[in-house]
Amino acid sequence: MTTPVSRPVDPSKRLTPTAALDLYANAPTTELGRLADAVRRAKHPDGVVTYIIDRNVNYTNVCVARCRFCAFYREVGSNEGYTLGFDEIFRKIDETIRVGGVQLLLQGGHNPDIPLQWYEDLFRKVKERYPSFRLHALSPPEVIHISRLSRLPIPQVIARLVAAGLDSIPGGGAEILVDRVRQILNCYNKATADEWLAVMREAHRAGLRTTATMMYGTVETMEERLEHLFRLRDLQDETGGFTAFITWSYQPRHTELGGTEATGVDYLRTLAIARLVLDNFDNLQASWVTQGGRVGQLSLGYGANDMGSVMIEENVVRAAGAEYCMDEFEVVRNIENAGFVAKRRNMHYDILGDPFFREQEVPRMRELAVARADGQAGEASDLRDYDARSAAAKRARGDARDVSQSPSSPLAPSH
Ligand code: SF4
Repeated sequence: MTTPVSRPVDPSKRLTPTAALDLYANAPTTELGRLADAVRRAKHPDGVVTYIIDRNVNYTNVCVARCRFCAFYREVGSNEGYTLGFDEIFRKIDETIRVGGVQLLLQGGHNPDIPLQWYEDLFRKVKERYPSFRLHALSPPEVIHISRLSRLPIPQVIARLVAAGLDSIPGGGAEILVDRVRQILNCYNKATADEWLAVMREAHRAGLRTTATMMYGTVETMEERLEHLFRLRDLQDETGGFTAFITWSYQPRHTELGGTEATGVDYLRTLAIARLVLDNFDNLQASWVTQGGRVGQLSLGYGANDMGSVMIEENVVRAAGAEYCMDEFEVVRNIENAGFVAKRRNMHYDILGDPFFREQEVPRMRELAVARADGQAGEASDLRDYDARSAAAKRARGDARDVSQSPSSPLAPSH
């Protein structure tokens, strides 16, 4: 039951934590929407809603972090673990370019058997083959993981990745930037709240633009969601490096944590309060991947000015039960039916043009692709060229090398 908000919002003043809590807890949902929509209109008066064509590729599902809300990861040595090879990733890029895609969103588990050199080699090869294609890759906890594995400081890891071809960093792994919550979710060790923010600060200092995210609906309080938003606002005041904010609800199926999913109304209220708190963020994305097309469309009246990415491939959220699929036709239909003009963009929110399918014929995509087909787990053979850390991977790569060195093997060098 909501009660009328106790004080009006003065648009000329920044929202304080107390006023934000008052609004979030008490304002009627339509009132929150009206306020958030006013901010969206002020920032984007042209009636344009943007989207990007990119592909979400999870290069490995092997992970040592073991977050309690995650249904995607597999333990080291699991026979369901996989790591993609360079050729598999190139094929995915080819498919993405064919439907007008401009970027790969590349994220994965914290796999102890993938060294920094592998990422550098991959990025260099991608840039050699596809010079203008963008790599939006490696969330802050992955950067921290690579830094720990390689025993190099974060700025040096970022500098090496940028030199190899990294263009921008996605805001994944933020969950809720409050350590009490992170400890319960078992994601404190992968990155504390301060560590997540520190990676973003370093990335911004290095000249990279990044996004920011929030996954809500696990064990956090309303105050902790707001603390997360205010911490993002503070960093954005300091660096100005975030291009956009994206929030989505926890997907509980097949996770250790379990529980229930937050409602669509909770999502719209959370999006709206984010639009009001994050007054220094230009862009808020609608999360139709977890909410579905209808709520995604409604989001455009609750502060969102962007529909995010068309979905070509998805592995993480789907593992926890969400299976919404929208190709470019569907994304554009939802934007236009809500009364907006649809425009394609890149990660920097530069407008690239009108819908791609109106410029050239593209195949409809009615089903999401996956990283690997069922039953095709395992490491790609590329990994044999890199040193492993885990006993399981050392054994597997050693066995594979032995086979390839055997005189009867077709893989044996001919000298
Ligand atoms: S959320 Fe990411 S870091 Fe956490 S267990 Fe899943 S794959 Fe690993």
